[in-house]
Amino acid sequence: MNRQEFEEKLQDIMNKAIRFQEPMKAHTTFRIGGPADYFLSLKNVEQIQKVILLCKEYQVPYEVIGNGSNLLVADEGIEGVVLQLGKEFSRTEIEGTLLKAQSGSTLSALARKAAEAELTGMEFACGIPGTLGGAITMNAGAYGEEMAQIVEQVTLLTNAGKQLSLSAKEMQFGYRKSILCQLPYIVLSADLRLKKGNRITIEKKMTELNAKRKEKQPLEYPSAGSTFKRPEGYFAGKLIMEAGLAGFQYQGAQVSKKHCGFLINATGTATAWDVKLLIQKVQQTVFEKSGVKLEPEIRFLGRTMQSNADSAKD
Ligand SMILES: Cc1cc2nc3c(=O)[nH]c(=O)nc-3n(C[C@H](O)[C@H](O)[C@H](O)COP(=O)(O)OP(=O)(O)OC[C@H]3O[C@@H](n4cnc5c(N)ncnc54)[C@H](O)[C@@H]3O)c2cc1C
Repeated sequence: MNRQEFEEKLQDIMNKAIRFQEPMKAHTTFRIGGPADYFLSLKNVEQIQKVILLCKEYQVPYEVIGNGSNLLVADEGIEGVVLQLGKEFSRTEIEGTLLKAQSGSTLSALARKAAEAELTGMEFACGIPGTLGGAITMNAGAYGEEMAQIVEQVTLLTNAGKQLSLSAKEMQFGYRKSILCQLPYIVLSADLRLKKGNRITIEKKMTELNAKRKEKQPLEYPSAGSTFKRPEGYFAGKLIMEAGLAGFQYQGAQVSKKHCGFLINATGTATAWDVKLLIQKVQQTVFEKSGVKLEPEIRFLGRTMQSNADSAKD
């Protein structure tokens, strides 16, 4: 690949707004991750299209991220381009009970917008610190509800740069997964079907859920939320606690004492390697004590990270 030529064309598309060797720890809630070769905050669909076609032409890998709240990024960083769809890609519109939003919108902002419009159905998501794109990819959920229940339609960009709309059924939502765990497509926007509600009741529910999170979760430490998926018939946090691992620490990474399902960056200086070793220790100990295999819910990105168990984004 002619790197100089690639960079010149990328500069043109991005109007020079490229961050080179950008530390990913600044873009993940774990506050962990080495440099991305090229980091771009995308503003519009045309720009995203041009970037992915350029990457294809020059065979440069690319990854899409939202708020980085479900990611463990390698200490060695990420090869190629990281496209962030964040606040610059977050237009929203309400049509009756339909909330239409671009994928960089945060769930908390969407939940607030829905409440203001007296629409109920998004309260469960108000404390999940991700974007709509990440939440759809992961079928994020909480308190017995999940994105799959409110998504009506998703607009995607294929790796060939074409736009495509998929219904909720076609998105193949499952427990913390969607078709996007296998397909390298980008969520551009989605239509969320909500119901008419009462603003005071909606806001009360959101306040209660956020208070519950604050009480039960170690929000005062950097983390990526629950590290493991919930094994059928069990709770990951309970299994980890019963295995005697509450507070167990490997270098800077620790099993939270407040909620054992969360691995936290306890010192603020934990590396991805520390977290990976701690994940393995937890998996091994829990398996020995209970016979249950814990699977990571968080996604691994970057140079030395093994690919995600259920994904083959290529
Ligand atoms: C304190 C805390 C609490 C949490 N609580 C919950 C919870 O209650 N329930 C829950 O489900 N999760 C929870 N999470 C995890 C996380 O917030 C969710 O998984 C969230 O949906 C991830 O969104 P994101 O924008 O941060 O995605 P990222 O972490 O940036 O990315 C996650 C995955 O989505 C992909 N992706 C992101 N945007 C796009 C896009 N536009 N198009 C295609 N692919 C994309 C990425 O490539 C990656 O594979 C929590 C995390 C933290 C830190």
